[in-house]
Amino acid sequence: MLSNETRRKMSESRKAFQERVGHIHRGPSYNGKWYKGRWIPEHPNASINGNIDEHRLMASKAITKPLPKGVIVHHVNGGLNGGKLVVCQDQAYHLLLHVRERAYRATGDPHKRKCPFCKQWDNPSNMREIIKSQRQATYEHKSCRHQYYLKRVHRNA
Ligand SMILES: [Zn+2]
Ligand SMILES: [Zn+2]
Repeated sequence: MLSNETRRKMSESRKAFQERVGHIHRGPSYNGKWYKGRWIPEHPNASINGNIDEHRLMASKAITKPLPKGVIVHHVNGGLNGGKLVVCQDQAYHLLLHVRERAYRATGDPHKRKCPFCKQWDNPSNMREIIKSQRQATYEHKSCRHQYYLKRVHRNA
């Protein structure tokens, strides 16, 4: 039996590790450590070695069918200890959830975005939207971009 003290320490170091490495979704090296893998080779979502991550298994049970190809199961707030699961249709949507979670944690408002130049969180309406790919966008302050540009010009002059 583990004492409560040991248990508390374990969950603390687990949290610290998770914060360091960020969000872990899958990958055999983490099976059994974060998400218990289950050996169910007949499951359509099992990997080639017959293992399926517990969170993917739970998600497929929740939608009562195998997960469609390409979907990513996201854990709300890193999802340790059975946090809520969100089935994302693709990586773009999944990344958006992460941005929103980071914004919420930093500012209490999931809609805020971080300027890569001044590192401040702000309302996207005060910022310029930079389209990276079809579904993904980042935001930055126009003035911050301008200052950055000026600095570069001076350095190269
Ligand atoms: Zn995620
Ligand atoms: Zn800025």
